[in-house]
Parts: sequence; structure tokens; C-alpha cells
Amino acid sequence: MTGADGGVDVENLTVTFGDVEALVDVSLSIDDGEFFTLVGPSGCGKTTLLRTVAGLETPTAGRVRIDGRDATDEPPEDRGVGVVFQNYALFPHMTARENVAYGLQFHDLPEPDDQRVGELLDLVDLAGVADREPDQLSGGQQQRIALARALAPKPDVLLLDEPLSALDASLRKRLRVQIRSIQRDLDITTVYVTHDQAEALAISDRVAVVRDGRIEQVGTPEDVYREPATRFVAEFVGDNNVFDGVVTEAGDRIAVDGTATLPLPNGTDLTAGASATVSVRPEAISIRDRERAQTDGDGSAVDGPGGTAVTRSATVETVEYLGDAYRVHCQWDDRPVTVKTDSTSPPEGTVTLGFEPDAVHVLSNGKPDTGA
Ligand code: ATP
Repeated sequence: MTGADGGVDVENLTVTFGDVEALVDVSLSIDDGEFFTLVGPSGCGKTTLLRTVAGLETPTAGRVRIDGRDATDEPPEDRGVGVVFQNYALFPHMTARENVAYGLQFHDLPEPDDQRVGELLDLVDLAGVADREPDQLSGGQQQRIALARALAPKPDVLLLDEPLSALDASLRKRLRVQIRSIQRDLDITTVYVTHDQAEALAISDRVAVVRDGRIEQVGTPEDVYREPATRFVAEFVGDNNVFDGVVTEAGDRIAVDGTATLPLPNGTDLTAGASATVSVRPEAISIRDRERAQTDGDGSAVDGPGGTAVTRSATVETVEYLGDAYRVHCQWDDRPVTVKTDSTSPPEGTVTLGFEPDAVHVLSNGKPDTGA
């Protein structure tokens, strides 16, 4: 792997804390100007990875390259990185302007440059509150000041550790758009940490899904959402329904637990008798009404526009209203199945679930999961 100019590479990075392996042999290559997000559940190692790039943790093994040079042994202040943490970390007795100016102080400037501070306050749209101290600013304003302070010395790389997680949902959505737009304007390589998969998909050029100190999949948001590589990614990103089964004699279906059979998409290269794991996105499953359920019967296959579709009777258990859709939790042969539907009223009782073969995605690394 080569450290591209302006980008960040981590090579075979392992970080241990006593007995805890926070990162295990992680390699990633982040391009110049890219908005790259580390997403995964709590404790998976995202923050440790970010802090190791920042120089705040020392790797047990492996290298960190920033802007093409080996930065593994450089102190944090020499790395050309700006960091924003979840909890703002502003100086409480300094004004917003002084906090931003502080970001300039250690970078070869005898006096903070007023014009530059003014530009940064404009960049985050907060010139109007420049003379307020942090306790006179809202959480969102404080986080924008923290961003301006991190950007002040013109770092090569911006590192953002859950910068929005302390904010309410609507502010989080607005601020993520603003962060993305500032990042694009400055064309700055950015590594962003979040546990929120929707945020990761919304904001990023590429995403790395992290689990137990390892990278499960790297790809564009569309890749990771539409073509999850593993069961973990399928379930963590997009609430996919995941089924384990065995490929049938004819090779065009998968028998799930000996009861249902699901169609495999055209061109699937699986041999008869092989174990396979497939996922189906909630929005790819349609809900047909009770009458159709009775007409179609249970488990029948009907011809649809994309080939032989699955239709199967299920029982609605709970329904969540999402505003523009319902997320419906059903029971299908003792198996929980999640469906997202934009129907105008909540489905109830017995329904028929239907999907086309193309909705079935074969996980490329879909070995049955032991939960280990
Ligand atoms: P969160 O989203 O909760 O912040 P994370 O994905 O960022 O989680 P890390 O903070 O990187 O996860 O932690 C990874 C693992 O390393 C966890 O098991 C954590 O308990 C452990 N860990 C992190 N920092 C230390 C430390 N300084 N000493 C001991 N163990 C640590």
C-alpha cells in the first residue's frame, strides 16, 4: 500500500490495552480529499483507530502514513491533523473567537491572525456570537466552534470523533450537512467516527464497517447498503433480513431450515447442496393484503415480472410509524422478518409477504454466524 499525498494509510495496525485487543491487524487506505467514515457498535475500536491516526494512542504493531510520509512516531502536533471530539472540549473561560484563535497559536504564528479567525467564524456561520463564552452557546454552536478551532491551522487531515452524538436528532441532521459542505469546500481528507449507520451512509464518500477491532467491509455507502459482504454488515447496515440455508438440487433456490425455499438471483454461482447465507432488504419485501394471502395460499411461488417471486403468509407483530413509511415486524414460520412499506395505513393480522428473486442478495462471506 502506498501513502497517497494528502491521504491517510494505516498498515497492519494492532493496538492492545493490556488484555484488550482494540484493533487487530487493520489496514485501510483513505484518499486525498475523501470523507471516510468508521462505523460500528460501541467498543468496536473506532475511537482507538482515530486516536492512533491522531498520535494519541501508540500502536502495538503497524504503521500510520499521513500525506505520504510515515507518521507512526511523530507527536500529535507534528502530524498536520485537526481533531474534534464528541464533548466539544472548548476552553470555558475563552470566547468563541479566542477558542478559534487558540487553534492558531501553536502553528508558527506569534499572534493569532484576526483575519483568519474571522474567516473561520464565517466558515461555520458563527461570526455573530464570536464574543460569547461556551456556556452562552448552544451545543450545536459549540461544536461548530470546535470545528473552526480544529480547522484553524489548515490541517491536512480532519479527524471527527462522534462530533454530533451529544446533539438532538434534528440538529444532528442539519449539522452533518454543514460539516459535509465545509469538508467539500476545503477539500480536506476527513475521517469521521460514528455508531449511527444512517449518519455514516448519509455523509460519506466511503465507509468502513468495524467490528471487534477488525474491518468487516469497506465501500461506498451504496455498496455497503446494497451488497453487504457479511451477515454482520447486512444486519448492522439497513436492518436486512438474513437467512441461512442450503442450495437446492436445481441450484436456483435456497432451502431455509428445510421449510421455506427462497429464489436465488440469476447468475448466482453456487453449487447444489452448498451452504449459503442470503439477505433481503426490508423495503424489497412487499406486503399484500389478507385477501391475496388467502388466494395465493401459503408458500406458493407465483410468476412476477422478474421471474418467480416468493409469496408467503406471515403474521404482523409490531408496527413502527416512520412518517413516510411503516417498519413492520412480522413472524414468518417462527422467523422474525422486517418489512418497510409506504402503505397509507398500518398492516395488521395475517398478510402475504412477497419479493422478487432480484431482491435476494447472496452474502459473499455469508458463513453461518456463531455470534463469536
Ligand atoms: P464507542 O463508540 O463506545 O466510543 P469505540 O468503537 O470507539 O466505542 P474504542 O473506544 O476504540 O471503541 O474501544 C475499543 C476497545 O478498547 C473497547 O473494548 C475499550 O473498552 C478498549 N479501550 C479503549 N481505550 C482503552 C484504554 N485506554 N484502556 C483500556 N481499554 C481501552
